[in-house]
Amino acid sequence: MEHTVVKEPVTEVRPMKRDHYAMIINGERVESSSSEVFKTYNPAKGEALATVAKANKEDAELAVQAARNAFDNGKWRKYPVGKRSRVLNKIAAIMRERFNELVELEVLNSGKSVGAAQIQINQSIEDFEFYAGAIVGHRGVVNNVPNGFFNYTNKEPVGVCAQIIPWNYPMMMAAWKIAPAIATGCSVVLKPASLTPITAIILTEICHEAGVPAGVINTIPGSGSVIGDYLVQHEDINKVAFTGSTPTGKDIMSKASQSLKRLTLELGGKSPNIVFDDADLEAAVPGSLFGIFFNTGQSCEARSRMFVHESIYDEFMEQFIAKTKKLKSGDPFDKGTHLGSIISRDQLEIIDGYVQSAKEAGATIATGGKVCKIEGFENGHWYEPTVITDVTPDMKAVKEEIFGPVVVVEKFTDEKDVIKRANDTEYGLGSAIWTTNQARATRVAHKIDAGIVMVNCPFSAFPGTPFGGYKQSGFGRELCVETLDLYMEDKSVLSYHGGKPINPFGV
Ligand code: NAP
Ligand code: MG
Repeated sequence: MEHTVVKEPVTEVRPMKRDHYAMIINGERVESSSSEVFKTYNPAKGEALATVAKANKEDAELAVQAARNAFDNGKWRKYPVGKRSRVLNKIAAIMRERFNELVELEVLNSGKSVGAAQIQINQSIEDFEFYAGAIVGHRGVVNNVPNGFFNYTNKEPVGVCAQIIPWNYPMMMAAWKIAPAIATGCSVVLKPASLTPITAIILTEICHEAGVPAGVINTIPGSGSVIGDYLVQHEDINKVAFTGSTPTGKDIMSKASQSLKRLTLELGGKSPNIVFDDADLEAAVPGSLFGIFFNTGQSCEARSRMFVHESIYDEFMEQFIAKTKKLKSGDPFDKGTHLGSIISRDQLEIIDGYVQSAKEAGATIATGGKVCKIEGFENGHWYEPTVITDVTPDMKAVKEEIFGPVVVVEKFTDEKDVIKRANDTEYGLGSAIWTTNQARATRVAHKIDAGIVMVNCPFSAFPGTPFGGYKQSGFGRELCVETLDLYMEDKSVLSYHGGKPINPFGV
């Protein structure tokens, strides 16, 4: 198979802001073999931002073969671990140097507020630093075996990984995927979301500038149902790591099972946020507000189902709604902006559909509930921060992931009952508890069926803390030391050095 347009090896990443972004295969910026491109947008303005090379199956095949060759014959996995670690630190250093440019690109392509983008780019940098450290101490074990025998485990990279990521945290998801994979010596074919391909491409270029050899990371923008689907079934792919919706996750799991690929899935959520009667409202109100409205509610771990104890309900809701009304939607580059835009027109309609369905089913829209008009951003996709009360558990808006700035609120009286209601969902990603009673905090934390419990804490994770779900929120943990094992095999080496030859059959 011949590739038509080979442009240039990636050495330096300048400039970051361009009219066109090529894909990266085998250390080179290349165009699609069909020369096809697609437009990527600034969703805050609804304006085209740049064109992007659109990978087809032929390009995906080249990317897989480049990754396969880098893994089977290349030097990356053979480097001493300290050398790989230094390259990861170098990636982080380049990102730090060019922090403002990365933030700008992320804001332009996602419509998120500059404050949210800064948090996420900073965390992406820290991910590389975390894995640069973690991999150095990550090692096998010596096991107890009978005298004369010796057994140790050797941790070996799993091979070529297809990594498929969503649009809500474009750079951070790329970092969560790439950093642990390359730390272990794996090679990667990364497929960014079609809505937000730019910063993943730039991150891949930075990795090359920092010294990751050609073929170790190949980034191919293009349709999930075409090239994503191709990757998850490809026999040369050893592992699939996916973040996105639960239906797509199920589809990937069934297809990847045909060749028993290793798989991690980080899927949707409908995370509860429980405010007990003894909560410190000075922390619980702003923490719950951040829990749902950060990233304009477009987070898998958004605390989108709020349960408030009836004895503090009125007081809590008065403060919560007052603060919701103070949140500013607007120019994403304005430092005072809290909520950026919604990612697309389609997503805006999905969000509004949920809100209208709750209204029709008898819920109360306590605040928000409408598409916003923002001056200077009239063609963008904006939604008011929305609080829905008087809901019942059977409502669509209460059961399903909305993925927008919309929270549904229920009252409760009894601890056991609220645990049951919090767990009454097919999802199990995040959860938050607000209480000043430590015994209750621990008791409830251990009874919630979720991968993450935030106790009096607005944040869900830092590099080093496990992130991942129970139930239909997926499986596998990211962002932590344990992630490394999801990119490695434990090889058991059992040897005999007892002197006297063993003749088990005795013949
Ligand atoms: P999605 O369909 O799950 O897309 C996520 C990624 O998977 C994208 O890169 C997508 O590519 C790719 N993909 C799509 N279909 C595929 C297939 N059949 N095989 C392999 N890869 C495939 O999510 P979405 O359509 O962007 O969003 C839909 C809903 O998912 C949202 O409303 C939200 O509820 C949820 N969501 C959850 C998360 C999360 O972090 N848990 C993140 C984003 C969205 P394309 O971009 O080319 O389609
Ligand atoms: Mg989709």
